[in-house]
Amino acid sequence: MIMRTYIKDLSAHVGQEITVSVWVDVRRDQGKMVFLDLRDVTGKAQAVVLPNHTEALEVAQKLRPEWVVEVRGLVNKRPEKNIKEGVLNGDIELEVLSIVVLNEAETPAFDISTDGREIGEEVRLEKKYLDLRRARMQRNISMRHKVIKHVRAYLDGQSFLEIETPLLTNPTPEGSRSYLVPSRVHPGNFYALPQSPQQYKQLLMSAGFERYFQIAKCMRDEDTRGDRQPEFTQMDLEMSFVTREDVMKLNEGLLIDLVTKLFPEKKIQTVPFPVLTYAEAMEKYGTDKPDIRTDKEDQNLLAFCWVIDFPAFEKTTEDTVDGNGDWTFTHNPFTGVKDEFINDLMEKKNIGNIISTQYDIAMNGYEIGGGGIRLHKPEALRKVFEIMGYSDERIETNFGHMLAALASGTPPHGGIAWGLDRLLMVLLNEPNIREVMAFPKTGEGKDILMQAPSPAPEKTLKELGISVQKK
Ligand code: ASP
Repeated sequence: MIMRTYIKDLSAHVGQEITVSVWVDVRRDQGKMVFLDLRDVTGKAQAVVLPNHTEALEVAQKLRPEWVVEVRGLVNKRPEKNIKEGVLNGDIELEVLSIVVLNEAETPAFDISTDGREIGEEVRLEKKYLDLRRARMQRNISMRHKVIKHVRAYLDGQSFLEIETPLLTNPTPEGSRSYLVPSRVHPGNFYALPQSPQQYKQLLMSAGFERYFQIAKCMRDEDTRGDRQPEFTQMDLEMSFVTREDVMKLNEGLLIDLVTKLFPEKKIQTVPFPVLTYAEAMEKYGTDKPDIRTDKEDQNLLAFCWVIDFPAFEKTTEDTVDGNGDWTFTHNPFTGVKDEFINDLMEKKNIGNIISTQYDIAMNGYEIGGGGIRLHKPEALRKVFEIMGYSDERIETNFGHMLAALASGTPPHGGIAWGLDRLLMVLLNEPNIREVMAFPKTGEGKDILMQAPSPAPEKTLKELGISVQKK
């Protein structure tokens, strides 16, 4: 392993000669000497190139912001009057002995020393590698890592296994369109990118793993709507032999632990989290993701609440995913119904009154997660599809594998998925989820750095047996 001396550790080296590998953050040329702010992933430090180090001074005079350099220097304690309290390296200064330029940099397209909110978003996205150098982005991305790491450790401690599920698969209904991927080997056939790992995670319960989780990429081909991204990340989990309350309790424990340990400046308004029925939430707040904060000005107040007892079905005028019934599921077809409604489901009556086992979790007016106890009996799941007007043949083709798995000895099970980006957005006081993703797409679903989506070469289309209709 290469031993680096990091900027954050310089104070520990007072009186020593060290070498740092850094970016030039700022250069202040005073003619006879040059001041440099040096930056690495851990922070910044001030360096000074004195007139007696002539070679170093000559190099320093050429340096520009964002050049990458290796600097050898002496760590000096600052005179008392120059000490900056409470600032990283406010008590030291690096006296530069020599500088090696590792790479030059063109003049940055925009200022990275600010929080970036004053810069047009498209400009930032086009040069995201540069934008990510700003302190705000470095913090967001590093907190994202810490949150994911915390979730992994917590769930590992609760006997969960992290299991990857396929990205090339068949559509799973989550109320959106799926992205299709053409198969070259099987011309005319397509994979779908998952809208969620829903079916696979239930199949993992059939497979006897009992506790699964995954930090899962989900892809949904939606018309561009506000703060959505075509691909986003879920913290997805599923558990066997549990009740609704078990899943809610586990998630509540994890969220509280996460907030307390990683965001100590935040206050959770009410613990245990309040539980509202869908009817109560709609009546009192007019939404199923209520903002129940007592002080909406307080940036550090987090008001979590659960919403339960959703209707299982709603009327639809649209053709459902592939059926033609006038009822459709409200969340996903695999969600169960409360025990007292199982007869209604089996007899396909009082459909509009059937209450599901769905639970959603809201925080400060955002839906940050949702899940449910599932239907684990094949005959019950079949009824859902029948209510939605699917033919027997359709049920078999699209969901035969799920029915067969349920019929193979699948335990009662349930789970949840958090919208990880949205949760991070609120925790990091950001206005949209793009600010907590390393490489987000625009609101119109474009990656303007990589220029995706883009037309495919004629040869590729030919191999895939695809012809594109010219508009
Ligand atoms: N698959 C669901 C979703 O993506 C979450 C769940 O029910 O566990 O919203």
